[in-house]
Amino acid sequence: MCLFCKISNHKIPSNTVLENDEFIAFHDINPKAPVHILVIPKTHVESFNDVDSNIMAKMTLFIHEVVNEMNLKDSGYRVITNVGDDGGQEVKHLHFHILGGAKLAWTHLSDTDPKVFL
Ligand code: 5GP
Ligand code: ZN
Repeated sequence: MCLFCKISNHKIPSNTVLENDEFIAFHDINPKAPVHILVIPKTHVESFNDVDSNIMAKMTLFIHEVVNEMNLKDSGYRVITNVGDDGGQEVKHLHFHILGGAKLAWTHLSDTDPKVFL
């Protein structure tokens, strides 16, 4: 069983923000912003490559609930999912990072060194 399956099964503890039968949202153990939440489906899906549109539709509604719960809707936030090695995915169970609580750094793509990729 993978790390995030263990979290969704409550076999290892997490600081849970919101949960229903299909999804769970919890604080990232190594936050990269004042608010850094991870949202996962309880069923094991390896990455965004493998998710079906039915789960994604419900996940979208769940992410909206998390955003409301954390009071991020008006101030703004970022949603990220890393896919595979080039995307920097460390945990091979689909998860969406929700980052907010401060103005997040973002270098405009046209300003970046073409050898350094965001
Ligand atoms: P990835 O790099 O796969 O997109 O993101 C994995 C995220 O999971 C990282 O931000 C990392 O800090 C977080 N993480 C790894 N292990 C744990 C854990 O045991 N508990 C929690 N809450 N977050 C974790
Ligand atoms: Zn899993």
